[in-house]
Amino acid sequence: MVSIIIPVFNEEEVLNELYKRITTVMDSTKEDYELVFIDDGSSDNTYSMLKELHKKDRRCKIIHFSRNFGHQIAITAGMDYCKGDAIVIIDADLQDPPELIPEMLEKWKQGAQIVHAKRKKRKGESIFKKATAAIFYRTLKALTNVEIPVDVGDFRLMDKKVVQSLRSMRERNRFVRGLVSWTGYKQAEVTYIRDPRFAGTTKYPLKKMIRFALNGITSFSDKPLKIASLLGFLLSTAGFIYMLYVLYQKLFTTQVVQGWTTIVVLILVFNGFTLLSLGILGEYVGRIYEEIKQRPLYIIEESLGLEDSKE
Ligand code: UDP
Ligand code: MG
Repeated sequence: MVSIIIPVFNEEEVLNELYKRITTVMDSTKEDYELVFIDDGSSDNTYSMLKELHKKDRRCKIIHFSRNFGHQIAITAGMDYCKGDAIVIIDADLQDPPELIPEMLEKWKQGAQIVHAKRKKRKGESIFKKATAAIFYRTLKALTNVEIPVDVGDFRLMDKKVVQSLRSMRERNRFVRGLVSWTGYKQAEVTYIRDPRFAGTTKYPLKKMIRFALNGITSFSDKPLKIASLLGFLLSTAGFIYMLYVLYQKLFTTQVVQGWTTIVVLILVFNGFTLLSLGILGEYVGRIYEEIKQRPLYIIEESLGLEDSKE
């Protein structure tokens, strides 16, 4: 059986088309399948439309969150409750073409345990989004030792084993695609051209994008902390040498030192650096705090079609 996990957040305009396209593709593969929709606290008609889908087609399972917990958490809930031997994660907005799934299944049958869908090209997205995404994936690659593939989103197929390993990872600030690579299972790749959104607008405003990027980096690298301390070391060494020079001038020369510019520059540089380091520390400490509270990752208000749960 194949499970398709679909996180949805205010996607009323795309749901029916999505259902049509996925079922057409999946029916053609002759595989048994289920569609696990996670309603991530939508405020539009999404949930009632999902209920309709469930009524019409029992292969549609619905998880309804009590509020918006975010895309990565929605995917996690899907993975916690799905039953398939192969699990596909796909966006609801049809930016990830369901028509790619048969090719992914093929690779899985040939033995790959993770099949990434790599974007060759992105259509209909702003230059800003493309540029920040490109920078983000490359920065992350430079900062971490985990083999996280570049330009790959969450659209991927995973073997049941991979998902079982993921279920044991309960960290709160999740960067799912990193966790998947971290498991170390055999990875393969298919490429595709990413379409523009079928309808509606992006559910990833800048704020969510920044949080997402920071989660990716802080979950998979402690290098920012090391860079901060290395820079701190270099700056204070330079400061110490300069102090010797200033003391020498004071004690052994009669030169009048005006020094205002120097002081302002030093204050700006050092304070700027201190604040930046504190900020970096704060990002990590904040995440430690989140973890230590041990709250559940999400709250399911209602679910349809799930027989039993993981926990
Ligand atoms: N999504 C979600 N919760 C959120 C934001 C997004 O479940 O808080 C879902 C959304 O419905 C879509 C997928 O995550 O299925 C990707 O979001 P979107 O297409 O808006 O992101 P973009 O492609 O613009 O990066
Ligand atoms: Mg999208």
